[in-house]
Amino acid sequence: MSNKTLLIEHNIKPTIQRILILDYLSSVISHPTADEIYTALVPKIPILSRMTIYNTLNLLVEKGVIHSLNIEEKNTRYDFDISPHAHLLCTKCHKVYDIFLKNEQIDFLKNLVEGEIFDFQINIKGICKKCNNLGKTSH
Ligand SMILES: [Zn+2]
Ligand SMILES: [Zn+2]
Repeated sequence: MSNKTLLIEHNIKPTIQRILILDYLSSVISHPTADEIYTALVPKIPILSRMTIYNTLNLLVEKGVIHSLNIEEKNTRYDFDISPHAHLLCTKCHKVYDIFLKNEQIDFLKNLVEGEIFDFQINIKGICKKCNNLGKTSH
């Protein structure tokens, strides 16, 4: 499905700027902030304003097209992947990684809940595999 169709299906008017914002968000796995999206898109769309980015992101979150992540105190990050998954914020490289749970791990959560799970957000702060391995080799 194209991002234009995705917008129409969510009753959002598919303006060029909205499509480009969604195209960018669906092309990256970095969970960018509004500022990062602005920096990436302004060379392509010089008339783009920060206000348009904020308004578009708020609308997309509100309509359930994308998810917002509050894993960092200062920055809201945005995720095109709305399937239930966890996030790791690495305190060394400051990247946000997707952590996908296996079925047996979701069963473990279900046991904790003692019911059904439809969605979850798990925010983990720590050190990613890459930075952890770098730390080991330097000793
Ligand atoms: Zn890292
Ligand atoms: Zn994610």
